[in-house]
Formats: sequence, C-alpha cells, structure tokens
Amino acid sequence: MANAVANGADSARAGAVLTIDLDAVRANYRLLRETAAGASCAAVMKADAYGLGMDIVAPALALEGCRVFFTAHLEEGMRLRQVVPEDSAIYVLHGPPPGATAEFFQYDLIPVLNDPTQLEDWRRACRLLQRRLPAALQFDTGMSRMGLAPAAVDRLLADPAWKDELRPVLVMSHLACADEPEHPMNALQRERFLALRTRFPGIPGSLANSSAVFLGDGFRHDLVRPGAALYGINPQPGTPNPLRQAVGLRARIMQSRSVQAGDFVGYGARHAVTGPARIATIGIGYADGWLRSLSGRGHAFIDGVAVPIAGTVSMDSITLDVTGIPEERVAPGQEVDLLCAQQTVDDVAREGGTIGYEVLTRLGGRFHRRYA
Ligand SMILES: *Cc1c(COP(=O)(O)O)cnc(C)c1O
Repeated sequence: MANAVANGADSARAGAVLTIDLDAVRANYRLLRETAAGASCAAVMKADAYGLGMDIVAPALALEGCRVFFTAHLEEGMRLRQVVPEDSAIYVLHGPPPGATAEFFQYDLIPVLNDPTQLEDWRRACRLLQRRLPAALQFDTGMSRMGLAPAAVDRLLADPAWKDELRPVLVMSHLACADEPEHPMNALQRERFLALRTRFPGIPGSLANSSAVFLGDGFRHDLVRPGAALYGINPQPGTPNPLRQAVGLRARIMQSRSVQAGDFVGYGARHAVTGPARIATIGIGYADGWLRSLSGRGHAFIDGVAVPIAGTVSMDSITLDVTGIPEERVAPGQEVDLLCAQQTVDDVAREGGTIGYEVLTRLGGRFHRRYA
C-alpha cells in the first residue's frame, strides 16, 4: 500500500533519507567488547564515523562506556574532542602534520607517530615544553603503509634520551589481511609485532581492527580498534555476519513511465527495452555515492521485492525497472529501499565490485539523515 514519506517537511524535501540506527551501533560495540574478552575496546571514528556522523555516533558509544577513540586526521580529532567525555583518549592515526604539534596539546589529542620525522618533531615539542607528552608508536609489520620500520625502532632505542622526552602510552600495528583468517600474513605480522613489543615493556599494545577481533585471543592484546564492524560491515566475509545493520537508505520515486520494445533507458542508451515495461526514476545517483559501477546490475527494493537498476546510474538519478509492481506503488512520491533488510552495505559492495567500507564512506551529504 501507499508508503509515502511522512516524516515531516525536511524528509519530504530530501531525495533520499539515510537512517542511522544508533541502537544497532551500540549493540555492535557491546558485541565487539565481549568478543574482545579482556581487551579494551576503542572505536574508530575516521571519515565522520565511516559516513554515519561522528558528532552523534561518538557520544552514543560513550554512553556504552567507550573512552578510547581513533581518528585519521588531526582536524577530525579536534572536532571529536568537542563531543566526547573529557576523560576520553583520542588517538590521531596520521600523527602530527609537519609543524602542527601545538594542536595536539591544545585539544588533548594523542598522536600516532609513524615515521622518524614525526618522532623527531614530537620529541622536539616535548623538549621545548619540558613535558613528556603521551604518544602512540606505530610499527610497520608488513603493510608498508604507515609505521616505523624495525631500523627506525633500533635508532630510537639506541638513544636513551627519548625516554625523558616522549611518553609512549600505546604501541600498535595494523594487519593487511585480517579479513582472510587463513592468510599467512596474519601470523607473520603478529610475530613481528610481538618481537617489537618486547622492546617496550609495560606499554599497552594494539593490533586488531574489526576483523582481527575475530582472529582469536592472540590478536587482541590490550586494546582492539574496530571501525567497520561497529557500523554493520561483516568482519568475516563469507560467514554469517554477527553484527547488526546500522544504516538504512530510502529514496523517493520522482517519475514513472511505461516503455515499449524499441525504447532505450538512460545514458548511452545501454538498456534496450524488449517488451512492455515500466521505468521509475529515483533521485539518487553516483554523486550521492551510489556507485556508477552498479549500472545495469544493482537493485532497489519495493516492499521487499527486488527491482533491477535499468541502464546507467546518473549523477543525480537512477532508473529502475519496476515492471510488475502495482502502478500506484510506483507513482511519484512513493518510496523504494536501497539499504534495507534485503540489501546490506556488503551486498551493494559485492554487486558494485568494491567493499562495504567504500559504499558506506561514500554515502553522500545530500541525504536527509535520521537517527533512530
Ligand atoms: C581504519 C583502521 C582501523 C579500523 O579498521 P576496521 O577494519 O574498519 O575495523 C584500525 N586501525 C587502523 C590503523 C586503521 O587505519
């Protein structure tokens, strides 16, 4: 039956409504914390909490007792500081950009020091202030992306003055293949991490992202750092997802028309109509993060029934083949589901040839957002 948007003027004006289920995010946090057993459970807030909205998600997790957060960028950390309890630790994964150490003291942020230049900058800042300021040290254990190489660790330890300067509060590394439990990189990186850790006795360690929380006791150490799993992405692809979906997306039909054999749909006239059909157009496109690679292969859902994307995904709109759906149900103003019980972020990613992380972090700024 009729399913028009009835959520006030704002929602009615929006092309699509993104619903963020804070209860689900909180339940996911509790599950991760339980799975992490003895380890503390942080929450990764980078990219605006993977697109869900850090300003609202972080305080919700604080209500569950979360007091350790990670951002990627300094500016994300500065913003996060305004919305979390004062006693929260905020780590900035990219560390200080050149010349930007003062902001870390000012906003009470902990840099993750990844390379010798950052280490030097931080030590110099500590010397100037005559304070041993907290920092995390990241080791590169095999990803060759960020983190101190073993030789850089040797150089640091060769000069005992470092102990009078910075105060390491966490040693960490990051796994390249945690979502592939059988991958030999996991054990290799763990061994390298353990070897480096012993050189910093008494300092808490952290290795696990979402997937690694499920790799077993040996990967959890003192602190786990899930991001994706909090937001409902399956940390163990190919097995049932133990987490709850955290986002829903619903768009409104703008126009609906009958087409006949010989007609074409969309850019490039790639979709050729072969018989009487009905096409409905919704107001969301690749500029909203609905991947163009879903052209001719993705789906939306109407009352739980899959309707295929017909033709190319446009910047601001998508055409759906809604043949067989009752006409009044595809009239302008009616709604279709894009993320729902029948279609998760991971499903969309699979159809679009990417990963759930990319789908989630691209969901655009033009949606109306509703927190439930
Ligand atoms: C993004 C990130 C995480 C969180 O990873 P998920 O796979 O989203 O859980 C943890 N640690 C580091 C260093 C990261 O960059």
